[in-house]
Amino acid sequence: MDRKRIALVAHDARKPDLIGWLGANIHALEGNVFWSTGTTGRLVREAHPQLDITSLKSGPLGGDQQIGAMIAEGRIDLLVFFVDPMTAQPHDVDVKALTRLATLYNIPMACNEATADMVISSPLFTSGYRPRAVDFAAHDSRRL
Ligand code: PGA
Repeated sequence: MDRKRIALVAHDARKPDLIGWLGANIHALEGNVFWSTGTTGRLVREAHPQLDITSLKSGPLGGDQQIGAMIAEGRIDLLVFFVDPMTAQPHDVDVKALTRLATLYNIPMACNEATADMVISSPLFTSGYRPRAVDFAAHDSRRL
């Protein structure tokens, strides 16, 4: 199995859910490489020290933007982002930017637990599947 490069983010109210989801699926997930926003990453490492995880800045301090940049650079295969839809976030624009870039670059993005379950149980998760690369040539060569 090739190692998937997985980004993990959870809003505060959803962090326990993410920790629990990782624990419930640890056998499917260990062996992959993880990047995370700062606080999420610290808690994940405490709970699941067997995971190979690198923590970036905390989300509200730029961590979501760092993950977005990694997506733009082709360095992330899957974004698991447990979103809290009931709480206003000070960095809402960063959250929007991150989900926009994941959409733009056609990487799988699970914003809730059920979708994350579907993604990791798909045969594509372990098949070496690569999403179709998006062609930006028309954008890059547009005449203004
Ligand atoms: P955090 O950031 O992991 O540092 O809490 C997550 C977020 O973007 O809210």
